[in-house]
Amino acid sequence: MAYNPESVLTVQPIPTLSDEVNQIRLDTAEVVGKRIIPNEPLLAQRWNGNEEAQKLHADIVGEIKERSLWAPHLPEEYGGNDLGFISHAYMNEIVAWSPGAAPMFGVVAPNSGNQKVLVKYATPEQKKKWLEPLVRGETQSCFSMTEPDNAGSDPRSIQTRAVRDGDEWVITGHKWFTSNAVRADWALVMARTEEPDGDGGVNEKMSQFIVPTDSEGFEIVRSVPVWGHSGGHHCEIKYNGVRVPHENMLGSKGQGHAAAQERLGAGRVYHCMNSIGAMWRAFDLMVKRSIERQVHGGKLETKQFIQGFIADSYMDIQSARLMTIHCAEVMESGADARTEISSIKVFVPAAYHRVVDRAIQVFGAKGVSGDTPLAGMYMGARTLRLADGPDEVHRILIAKNVLRHYHNGLSWDFGV
Ligand SMILES: Cc1cc2nc3c(=O)[nH]c(=O)nc-3n(C[C@H](O)[C@H](O)[C@H](O)COP(=O)(O)OP(=O)(O)OC[C@H]3O[C@@H](n4cnc5c(N)ncnc54)[C@H](O)[C@@H]3O)c2cc1C
Repeated sequence: MAYNPESVLTVQPIPTLSDEVNQIRLDTAEVVGKRIIPNEPLLAQRWNGNEEAQKLHADIVGEIKERSLWAPHLPEEYGGNDLGFISHAYMNEIVAWSPGAAPMFGVVAPNSGNQKVLVKYATPEQKKKWLEPLVRGETQSCFSMTEPDNAGSDPRSIQTRAVRDGDEWVITGHKWFTSNAVRADWALVMARTEEPDGDGGVNEKMSQFIVPTDSEGFEIVRSVPVWGHSGGHHCEIKYNGVRVPHENMLGSKGQGHAAAQERLGAGRVYHCMNSIGAMWRAFDLMVKRSIERQVHGGKLETKQFIQGFIADSYMDIQSARLMTIHCAEVMESGADARTEISSIKVFVPAAYHRVVDRAIQVFGAKGVSGDTPLAGMYMGARTLRLADGPDEVHRILIAKNVLRHYHNGLSWDFGV
C-alpha cells in the first residue's frame, strides 16, 4: 500500500494558526489515528458489556486527560481544559474522523450543551448539585424542548407550561425527540411561564427548569424509532404535572429562549467542524477504495465518473471548511455572525450529505453495510438538515439579514 493507512496522522501544522492550536490538532490526531480508528470495531463492543472494550475505552480516556484534551468546552474549575472556541473548533475537525470518538474527549451532546448552559446560568448551588456530577460522568442529562404537536422550528409555539405553586413549579406538557432521556438523571425542560405585563394582562415567556427524571409525573412514553432503529434514546415524554422546587429554575424567569439560542450559536460551529472531520474521513475512505478496487478492466481511480466524485467532494469539503472557519473568526471577533452561522448550518450538512453519498456509491454494496462508518454518517448528515433548525428557517434568516443590510444602504461587506 503506497498511502498512509491512517491518513489523519498526516495532519500538518497550519502556518496561520498559533503553535498552541497546532499542537492541539497534532496531539488529537495522534490519539484518534493511533488509538481510536484502529480499534473502532472493538470499541463499538463497549455498549455490549465487552470488558476488553471497556478497559480500552477507559485507557484512552485516561490518555486524553493526560494530554489535557479532555472536555475542551469547560473551565478548569469544572474539570475541563477550556481550550477556547477556535482551538475547540479545530480539534473537532480531527476528533470527528472517528464517529465514536467525541465521548472519549468528554464532548457528547446533549450533556456538553447542558454543561455549557449550566456554567453560564446556574447558581453555585445548582452547579454543585447538577453540573459537577455530570462533568465527572456520574450522571447523564437531556434537553427537552421539541414537541410533537407544535413546530420545533418555531420555539415560540411551545405549549408546555410551568405554573408557580408556592415554592414549587408544576410542569405540564408533551415533548418528543428528547435525546438521551432513557439514560438521563435530569432533563433541562423548556416551558412557558407567565408574568404580569403591567397593564393588567400577562406576558408569556420561555423559562428552563432542571427536572429529575425520577420525579412523579415524568413519563417516558417511548423511544421514537429513528432511521428504523428503536434504540436511539430519542424519547417521547409526558410531563404530567411534574413538581420541581423553585430552586430548579435555571437562570431567571423568561431567560429560557436566550439560553437556548446561546447553546446553539457556538454549538453550530462545533457541529459543522464535526461534519467536516467526518467528510474528510468519508473522502479518505472513498479515495483509498478507488485506488484499490478493480472494476471493468481498471481501477476505479481511472474512471472519470469516480474522478468527478473525488473532485466534487474535495471542493465541497474545502468550501464547507473555509465557510466554517470564517464564521468562527467572525464570532471570535465579537461581530454579528448570525448570517454566517445560518449559512454554515445550511451549507455544511448538505455538503456532508453529498460527500458521504458519493463515498457510498464508490463502495457499492459495502457502502450501505455496517463494515464502514459510511451508512451511519449518511443518516447523521441527513438528520443534521433538520436538527438545530431546519434548512428553510436558516435560509429565511440569511435572506432577511442580507435584505436588511441593503435597506440600510450597505451592500456586499457583511460578514467580512
Ligand atoms: C435525531 C434527532 C435528535 C433530536 N434531539 C433533540 C433534543 O435532544 N431535544 C430537543 O428538544 N429536540 C431535538 N430534536 C428536534 C429538532 O430540534 C427538531 O426536529 C427541529 O427543530 C425541527 O422541528 P420539527 O421537527 O417540529 O419540524 P417543524 O417545525 O414541524 O418543521 C417541519 C418542516 O417545515 C419546514 N419549515 C419550517 N419552517 C418553515 C418556514 N418558515 N418556511 C418554510 N418551511 C418551513 C421545514 O422544511 C421543516 O423541516 C431532534 C431531532 C432529531 C431528528
